[in-house]
Amino acid sequence: MSDTGAKPGPEPSERTVIGITFGNSNSSIAYVVDDKAEVIANEDGDRQIPTILSYVDGEEYYGQQAKNFLVRNSQNTVAYFRDFLGQEFKSIDPTHNHASAHPQESGETVSFTIKDKAGEEEPASTLSISEVATRYIRRLVGSASEYLGKKVTSAVITVPTNFNDKQKAALVAAAAAADLEVLQLISEPIAAALAYDARPEGKVQDKIAVIADLGGTRSDVAIVASRGGMYTVLATVHDYEFAGVALDKVLMDHFAKEFLKKNSGAKDPRENARSLAKLRLESESTKRALSLGANASFSVESLSDGIDFASTINRLRYETIARTVFEGINRLVESAVKKAGLDVLDVDEVILSGGTSHTPRIASNLSNIFPQSTRILSPSTEVTALNPSEAEARGAALQASLIQDYEAEDIEQSTHAAVTTVPHVSNAIGVISVNEAGEEVFVPIVPPETAVPARRTVHVSAPNGGDVLVKVVEGNTHIKVTQPEPKAKENGESKAAKVEDADDSDEEDSDFSEDEEEEEEKREKVWKIGSTLAEAGVKGVKKSGKVEVSITVNSDLSVIVTAREVGGKGGVRGTLTS
Ligand code: ATP
Repeated sequence: MSDTGAKPGPEPSERTVIGITFGNSNSSIAYVVDDKAEVIANEDGDRQIPTILSYVDGEEYYGQQAKNFLVRNSQNTVAYFRDFLGQEFKSIDPTHNHASAHPQESGETVSFTIKDKAGEEEPASTLSISEVATRYIRRLVGSASEYLGKKVTSAVITVPTNFNDKQKAALVAAAAAADLEVLQLISEPIAAALAYDARPEGKVQDKIAVIADLGGTRSDVAIVASRGGMYTVLATVHDYEFAGVALDKVLMDHFAKEFLKKNSGAKDPRENARSLAKLRLESESTKRALSLGANASFSVESLSDGIDFASTINRLRYETIARTVFEGINRLVESAVKKAGLDVLDVDEVILSGGTSHTPRIASNLSNIFPQSTRILSPSTEVTALNPSEAEARGAALQASLIQDYEAEDIEQSTHAAVTTVPHVSNAIGVISVNEAGEEVFVPIVPPETAVPARRTVHVSAPNGGDVLVKVVEGNTHIKVTQPEPKAKENGESKAAKVEDADDSDEEDSDFSEDEEEEEEKREKVWKIGSTLAEAGVKGVKKSGKVEVSITVNSDLSVIVTAREVGGKGGVRGTLTS
């Protein structure tokens, strides 16, 4: 990017590019080989690389190795810092930093004081947030360069949709200081959407997608309209309460209580920093194991007062105690759909991205709020789903490989609008047709939320031929609710019997099934015919012929309509101003 004052990047032909996701909890690096994006494992074999730096005797550790130092070197370990870039101290939330180096006010920004040099006598250093980010990015780029066998020069980096210009500029500058050219910053949900659309089986088709990026410290949901390969973000919501760390906390409390029950008189492991760090690390790994198996173990040596502790937990128990968090995620997704002015019935697919999206219960809870026709793309609901921890890095790598041959200024000018908000039509534009029952129905040609300019064509049948009148109208959807037929009450016993059944049934089902027995009202999306935009008469159409209607919406939202008989001569054309 050229507005950062950084030295000019390499010539396009000299670039080696990667995609980077740089999260508060984890980061990933990916590259494209033979048109396929691959996530790179670092020297420790990790593809999800904890966004943590730790210094021991002047030696710098990063990723999982640094994370392990949270137990015995927490003061010289910097974690959860990404969101602080470009922020003033008074606007940051340091909640997650109490068990590692603490952020402090440093002029206009944030810094950390840590001992990063060897030797007792060496004073601690105060590192600005930019310096921390630069050091971390340098390590990521180092791992990628080592893997690829050549120096990585440039990257596309993903950022949350609510990163402001200052945060973006700070990230680009931190990368530049690590000798990395940022080709482009793309938003995290768009990166996930790109990765999905690039799959061999992924078709670029018009759709409304909900992209739920569920990470460690935050959950971000975006509603994205994909129209003709162009993405428009319709709405976003952000939440800092219902995410992975909250799930860790649930397990930490669970195991701490169990420990205290079994060891009466022992100290609460939550009250000692080192015990707490052990409890946290092991709870997180138990949580991850529960995404795969029905049971998981928990085992910590010398958890508190020198006492070892081992236990197990099954998935049902976990899902029960973590219910509030799961429900919070559902509410968040629903609020995003609402914010976009849509209904769950408008949503074609839900892409689950971010580490917490591995959790099967989150996917199944979400599938309960969407109609069956909505695809829920997560490992537990769709075999072809991408690994949610990898989707965004892949998308970033694909974007990087797509734009790497362009000059930096061209990238900046041409690609920004494609993935952010561009003008779009709010109502659908289509024609009126007559269905088998003889009723007038709306046939959409340009779907709502289509980015403009756009051109779409349909063929309308004219079974009777003759002079055909094509009516071009606006259309919008509304939700038709049909209440269930009231049912005769079953005999009084059966309800009680059902409740009993649920109680001793297989544990898996008993917890979330209360409302399953109730007959649900039927909700469906139906088109409503709106105002007429144009009428076009096509004369002398053959019997069983077809009329081709093309609609072009220009960037100023003016509309050009053409109608002609398929295979026939002539036709009509008209322009409407917006
Ligand atoms: P953020 O910026 O929100 O802190 P991130 O984008 O940096 O998050 P991610 O890797 O997307 O990080 O998410 C990290 C979270 O995902 C952690 O809470 C981690 O425990 C959780 N996680 C990772 N793998 C799994 C899994 N298999 N099952 C459940 N949770 C998982």
